[in-house]
Amino acid sequence: MKLQELTDLSARVTRNAGRLAKIGHLAECLRCLELGEIPIAVAYLCGELPQGKIGIGWSMLKDALACAPSESGVLTLADADACFENVRRTTGSGSGARRTEILAGLLARASATEREFLQRLIMGEMRHGALEGVMMEAVAKASGLPSRSVRRAYFVNGSLGQVASVALIQGEASLSGFQLTPGRPILPALAQPCDDVADALRQLGTAALEYKMDGARVQVHKVGSDVAVFTRGLRDVAAAVPELVETVRALGAGALILDGEVLAFRPDGKPHPFQTTMRRFGRKLDVAELRRELPLTPYFFDCLHLDGNTLIDAPGRERIDALAATVPAALRMPRMITDSPAAADAFFVAAVSAGHEGVMAKAPDALYEAGERSRNWLKIKRVHTLDLVVLAAEWGHGRRKGWLSNLHLGARDPSSGLFVMLGKTFKGLTDAMLREQTEILQRLETARDRHTVYVRPEVVVEVAFNDLQASPQYPAGLALRFARVKRYRPDKRAEQADTIETVRAIHAAEAE
Ligand code: AMP
Repeated sequence: MKLQELTDLSARVTRNAGRLAKIGHLAECLRCLELGEIPIAVAYLCGELPQGKIGIGWSMLKDALACAPSESGVLTLADADACFENVRRTTGSGSGARRTEILAGLLARASATEREFLQRLIMGEMRHGALEGVMMEAVAKASGLPSRSVRRAYFVNGSLGQVASVALIQGEASLSGFQLTPGRPILPALAQPCDDVADALRQLGTAALEYKMDGARVQVHKVGSDVAVFTRGLRDVAAAVPELVETVRALGAGALILDGEVLAFRPDGKPHPFQTTMRRFGRKLDVAELRRELPLTPYFFDCLHLDGNTLIDAPGRERIDALAATVPAALRMPRMITDSPAAADAFFVAAVSAGHEGVMAKAPDALYEAGERSRNWLKIKRVHTLDLVVLAAEWGHGRRKGWLSNLHLGARDPSSGLFVMLGKTFKGLTDAMLREQTEILQRLETARDRHTVYVRPEVVVEVAFNDLQASPQYPAGLALRFARVKRYRPDKRAEQADTIETVRAIHAAEAE
């Protein structure tokens, strides 16, 4: 297939708001692909390279884009794939120039729209989970197989491209061959947000509550003395976490798959912030040194396989029994089952007082819903709110095109009378809010560039967020984490917005 055809299709799918129409277009495309093209097209349409991240940054891309685009689209999917594979394999010292050259060779033969598509693909700008959901339905439609079978195969296999190839070419019998196997990762189960524990109990009745720790998700596989450790994105990071490998190797079971969270603790027993734990998973690591500085402790909360028994379709209680049978209590996530709001509240307070992010509330008998953001797993995080001032807004993309969307938010600095930027968010904004802010903010415009309109600092919004993290990028050295707009505060003037001192006090209290 020509890359141009795929680029045009991708644009059509993005433009079309209707889910069914998107599925229809994608299914039609899938039916026209040759066997070898299926994984490439599926990955590209989901906004990914089949190779994963290949280490092309913005500056390399800019250099590679220096030549003019070509007139007609001559490229095929195989051409693009061969180029990215070539870039991936070109490593070692002095490889930067060669990698740029290979990429430039591809971009010189691409049309203007293909270049834009490739650029967004390389920079990961198209990636969002919704595309995968639509793609799974499209694979089901194109292959005539039940979407349940396609979803399940994808969740245990983790590669939609592979699943699509088997579904389209070999059919359902082969699809059921995708089974959970120790050593091969599956997509982790995800949780839905929930306001508070009372709400969680209303939804679940009796709930299994667990601490929600803010570290790194790990899926650990043990087969004999072989141990693999996969991240949430299914990257094998065993080499970065030798202490975890040693701990799991020492467990009694012969074959085991555990799901859990690892994090680093401070000498006083409180967890380090997420950012600090994540230093253990950086790109260039001195593993021995980091292990000494930031030893990791695992807290396992699920068991998906134990000695030949696959448990993802067993109720939660059974999986927890299996967990308790193999993992000592000190390495298990603190947990209780209750239907009492008072007991649940006390558990939440205990989790937060111990420095954790909040709690998870799980339906005690739920199956393990790999890859799904299920209503059977609810996450309840401690929340802060601040009244902040809008300093600028960026134009939206896709459905939000033409609207000012991503807000730059700042707190008041009483010593200078200026505003200190703390982060950006486009979350929480309804269509009505987008429409209104587009109009109001343009009236307050002081300057603009290609992406952003800068405004007089007059509009106040109430912003909820879960955390503050250290950030050298922002002037106060702090940035909001998981910020979303709750509502506009037309009743407040900028002089009444929260101050940077309040923000620092929240940060200090969290670090205590
Ligand atoms: P979030 O990243 O905010 O969507 O929250 C989900 C993440 O919380 C999971 O991917 C895990 O990494 C993490 N987590 C921490 N504690 C638990 C727990 N007890 N059960 C499940 N996930 C947990």
